[in-house]
Parts: sequence; structure tokens; C-alpha cells
Amino acid sequence: MKFGKDSKIEIIAVGTELLTPYYQDTNSLYITQHLNDLGIEINFKSIVGDNRDDLIVCINSAFARSEIIFFIGGLGPTEDDRTREVIASTLGKKLIFKEQLLNGIKQRFERRGFEMPSVNNKQAYIIEGSSVLENKHGTAPGLWLEAGEKLFILLPGPPHELKPMFKNYVWPRFLEFQKQYVARRVLKTSGLTESKIESLLSDVYPLLPSLKLTILAYPGQIELHLLSRSLESHKKADGALHDLERDLKKRLGENIFSSLGEELEEVIGPLLRQSQRTLAIAESCTGGLLGHRITNVSGSSDYFLQGVLTYSNESKIQLLGIPSDIILQHGAVSHEVAEAMAIGIRKRSASDIGLSITGIAGPKGGSPEKPVGLVFVGLSWEGGVKVVKNIFLGHREIIKSQSSQKALDMLRLHLLQ
Ligand code: ATP
Ligand code: MG
Repeated sequence: MKFGKDSKIEIIAVGTELLTPYYQDTNSLYITQHLNDLGIEINFKSIVGDNRDDLIVCINSAFARSEIIFFIGGLGPTEDDRTREVIASTLGKKLIFKEQLLNGIKQRFERRGFEMPSVNNKQAYIIEGSSVLENKHGTAPGLWLEAGEKLFILLPGPPHELKPMFKNYVWPRFLEFQKQYVARRVLKTSGLTESKIESLLSDVYPLLPSLKLTILAYPGQIELHLLSRSLESHKKADGALHDLERDLKKRLGENIFSSLGEELEEVIGPLLRQSQRTLAIAESCTGGLLGHRITNVSGSSDYFLQGVLTYSNESKIQLLGIPSDIILQHGAVSHEVAEAMAIGIRKRSASDIGLSITGIAGPKGGSPEKPVGLVFVGLSWEGGVKVVKNIFLGHREIIKSQSSQKALDMLRLHLLQ
């Protein structure tokens, strides 16, 4: 049977490292998810090391039971990358040199100021009869080979190379085999616990069988993953999803901060820009994480003026002008110091808004009155100041991440007012 809508599909991940406990075959999950979304199922999946004989066994068994076979990895320049050669020889096909491919690979090296090592020559060979899937993120070209009744698709191992290649050049060709339509949305929330969200949504269930709602909890952020399926059209799937989304938004209100996958730092950018307000921050226990997140967003220089990392008491006094007796009286981790930090940075930077974080990230340094996880977040603006006391649970990095999350969320809610 020639490959088509009802083909058996198989994925073979090639790489000795994938047979160790340290690496996982995530690429096949990515491919599976995208094909499942079209209603296309995977029939077989295997992992094989970079060993010629083992690879031949895998190819032969795949050949006997499947019409569409994906090979992932082993397209690189090194000795152990032999997927291309082994498939060619097993199918009795030649490898053909492509000058154009070689030039492309050479140019990639030249752009980085290197000369192409001679080992990369072998990546300019393709299996006779195949067409090239362009790799914009690496040197290993992908291959699409229709041989007799079968379809072979060879993709590079590194996920950042495989994903765009699959999405741009492989997935569109599977649309003709599509059996269902899927729409997805991720709503991200802050300020509510998972159990609170569950209770607010308890009577949303049971959903129609074509709808799925999954709640995923991360520190400081709970996500609602919505999925809708239709056998008829994408419009139908999307329409049902839209209704569900509207219902959820009504129930959770401002606690939903994004529905297009954006993080909090991406959400506050447009809010600051639209209201033409500027921001400066002073952070202590987060060690620059808040500034890092804010500046992860391209264009943040439109509204972000400066951030100071005032870790010691002296730096809080010197850089923010906090009176030393406030620190002496209340301690560096206190409502009063968070307030003075937010006001201090706003005044010193002449920004519209000052945001501050001071806390105990642990695991040492806690006391009964001031436990690990105690974090004060301050927000200062012309005409007001607000401080929120939090007690976060978890290890150091989780406490830092929750603190930055809380600060960005306070800022977001302030900007929405
Ligand atoms: P390269 O040109 O980088 O050598 P390649 O096609 O030869 O490309 P491999 O050498 O097989 O790819 O794998 C490169 C890296 O990609 C591996 O070290 C591994 O980290 C990652 N990788 C390979 N296969 C998978 C997979 N199935 N899932 C996730 N990661 C993978
Ligand atoms: Mg390799």
C-alpha cells in the first residue's frame, strides 16, 4: 500500500545518548503532538544507538510494518552520524553530492568567521531521489524521500533545528491526511491557588467530549490548557474553544494575565508603554532576576529606566538613600525597607513607578519572626505606595522566581487600575 491517509507511521530516534538516563527523546513527542492534532496517530516508536547493525535491524523492521518512517538524528558531520549512509545502503540507493548544499554549509561557517572543517563535507550528500528540507538553524539538512510505496523523513537531532524544520516543511505536507481539527489556548493566571481555581471552575465540568481543560501549577503561576477538537472544521473547534475561554475569563477575571502564552514581563510592557509610564526597580534577594525578566522583552528600553541590585545594607543606604535607622530598627527584610526602596529608586531615577523586592531566599538566614520565604514587595508611584508581605515556600530558586512573579503581578494590577 502506498503511503497515505491510512498509513502506519513510525518514528525512529537515533543516538546512543538517548539510551542513557541523561537524554530524552523529546523530538518524537513534538512530532507526535503535531500529528495527533491532525487526528493522525503514530503506530510505532523506537530508539536505537549510533550503531550500524542495530540501525539496519530497525530500518528493516520499520520497512516491514510501516509506510511512513521518521528518522531523527545522526545527520551530523561526525563519525557516529550515519543515518543517511545506512538508509541509503539498506535501500540500495546512492549518495549524491550537492554543490549547492556544500556552499550553504560553508557560508554558515564563514558568517561566524570560521573555515568549514572537512568533516562537514559529508552533509552535502543526499540520498538519491530525496529532496532537501532546509535547515535554517544548523548544518544538517533534512531529507524527504519517497521510495516505492514508502515515505522516509530524515530530521536533525537538535530540537531547535528539528522543530522549525518539521513545522515549516513537514507538517504542512501532512495536512492532506488530516482527520480532525484542533484549537488550543493557554490561559495563565496569577494570584489564585490551584484549589481556589478548581473550586471556581467546579461547575464548568463536565465538558463536552470534544473539549479538554487541564490545570497545570507552577510556582506563582497556574495555567489552564484548553483544547478543542472538531471532525468538521477548524472554525468549529475554535468557536467552541472561544466560548469556553469566555466563560473562564468571566469567572477568573483579572487573575488571568495572558491567553496568548505571554509571560508577565511581556504583559507589563504594553501596559507601561500605552500609559507612557516609566519603571525603575530595586531588588535584593532576587539578585537581578526581576531586571533580567523585564529586559528579556525586546523594546523594554521604552519604559524601563534602571534597576539596582542592593544586596547589602550599605548599598541600600548609598544607592537608594534609605535612612540607616530604618534598617537598624526594622531589619533589611521588612515592610518599611521595601517601602523605602520603592520610593528611593523612583525618586533617584525620576521614574513614574518604583518596584522593590527584599526577602529571605534561604535556605539559611531565617528566624521564627522572619522565616525563609518571607518577601516584601513594594510599589511606589506619584501619590501612593503599597507593600505586600508574602511567605513563599520552596527552595532558593523557587522563592526568587515567586518574588519576581509577585512584583510583576503587583505592577500589572496597578497598571490595570
Ligand atoms: P548535529 O549536526 O548536531 O550532529 P545530528 O542530526 O547528527 O545533528 P545528533 O548528533 O543525533 O544530531 O544529536 C545532536 C543532539 O541533539 C544530541 O546531543 C541531543 O542532545 C539532541 N537530540 C538528538 N536526538 C534527540 C531527540 N530524539 N530528542 C531530543 N533531543 C535529541
Ligand atoms: Mg551528531
